[in-house]
Amino acid sequence: MPLPASPLPASPLSATICLYCGSSSGKDPAYREAAANLGRFLAREKIRLVYGGGRVGLMGAAADACMAAGGEVIGIIPDFLLRHEVGHTGVSDLQVVDTMHERKMRMAELADAFCVLPGGLGTLEELFEVLTWRQLGLHDKPIILLDVANYWEPLVQLLQRQAEEGFMRREHLALLHRASSLSALREALLLSLSAPTATRSKLA
Ligand code: AMP
Repeated sequence: MPLPASPLPASPLSATICLYCGSSSGKDPAYREAAANLGRFLAREKIRLVYGGGRVGLMGAAADACMAAGGEVIGIIPDFLLRHEVGHTGVSDLQVVDTMHERKMRMAELADAFCVLPGGLGTLEELFEVLTWRQLGLHDKPIILLDVANYWEPLVQLLQRQAEEGFMRREHLALLHRASSLSALREALLLSLSAPTATRSKLA
C-alpha cells in the first residue's frame, strides 16, 4: 500500500498561491473537476488561495472546494466587476479594490507562486503579465501551468516557436513550468519554493 503523501515542508506549508483561471467553466466537465480538485489540494496542504474573487466558472469551483475543505481563500475583485462576476461572499476574505491594475498587483504581491488553470483572455493576460515580469527579473516567483486535457499544449508550442524564431531567449522557456497532475504541481512547488528567494518579494 503506498504511503500517504507527506505534507509539504515548513515554507511551502505557509505559502500563498495565486490562481488564474476561467470565469467560465469550459465545455469539458474535467475543467471544473480539476479546479475543485485544486481547491481541495490547497486546503489539504494548508496553502492559502488568492484569486480574482468571483463565484462563477472555474474561479468559483476552486474557491468553493477550497472553502468546503477548510482552506483559506482570499478573493480580490474590482468594484465594477463585483456584480458582473458575481463576487464570492462565502470566501475567507473578499477584498474590493478600485481598478483591475490594483487587483492584479495585490494578487501578485500576496502570491508566493502562480498557478494557471484553463481559461480565456483574462487568464492569458494575467499569465503573461507575471511571466513578462519574471522575464524582466522583477520577481522570481514560480509560474505553473496546470494542464487539463492538454489544454495548454498549443500555448507551449507557440512559446517554443517564439524561441525558435528568435523572438524569445530559449532559456526563458524554463520560466514557465507545466504540471499535468496535482502530484506534479506539488513537486514543482516543493522544488521552486524551497529555492533561495532573492527577488521573490520584489514586484514593481
Ligand atoms: P477569463 O479567463 O477571460 O474568463 O477571465 C478570468 C479572469 O481574468 C477574470 O477574473 C477576469 O476578471 C479577468 N480578466 C478579464 N479580462 C481581463 C483583462 N483585460 N485584464 C486583466 N484581467 C482580466
